[in-house]
Amino acid sequence: MANKTYADLKDEFDERVEKLREECDHPEVSDWQEEWWAIGHTTGFEVRVCEICQKIVARRTRCAKCGKFVEEDNFKRGDGTRRPASEIFCPECQEEWEEFVRRREGRHLPDGSSVKEEENLTEGLHYMRLHRKFLESPD
Ligand SMILES: [Zn+2]
Ligand SMILES: [Zn+2]
Repeated sequence: MANKTYADLKDEFDERVEKLREECDHPEVSDWQEEWWAIGHTTGFEVRVCEICQKIVARRTRCAKCGKFVEEDNFKRGDGTRRPASEIFCPECQEEWEEFVRRREGRHLPDGSSVKEEENLTEGLHYMRLHRKFLESPD
């Protein structure tokens, strides 16, 4: 009878990979490639992975507004959460976006809804609506 389960082997494997990644200096990295979270579904990010230990050593995506590549250092957030690729702007567009949000405070929005109504929407929906308007606005 087998004395180890699949789960045991998986744990051993994960531990060894973790150790390998700690010790690896990532001397050879791949070209940029699309990152997939499931077959047929990309995360919207491109990554470079170490050929030795398969660790992701760099990540980038295109700015949702202007299409320019944005490297991970420019979109990492302090709280450790990562925004989906569709909400990431390059530093210039990020500034424009923040300005866009500021300009809209205390004003009636183009679709006729008042700021008050906007505030009554959940924060997420409010953000999504503004976000969409920003993307549709001319450069
Ligand atoms: Zn490595
Ligand atoms: Zn941009």
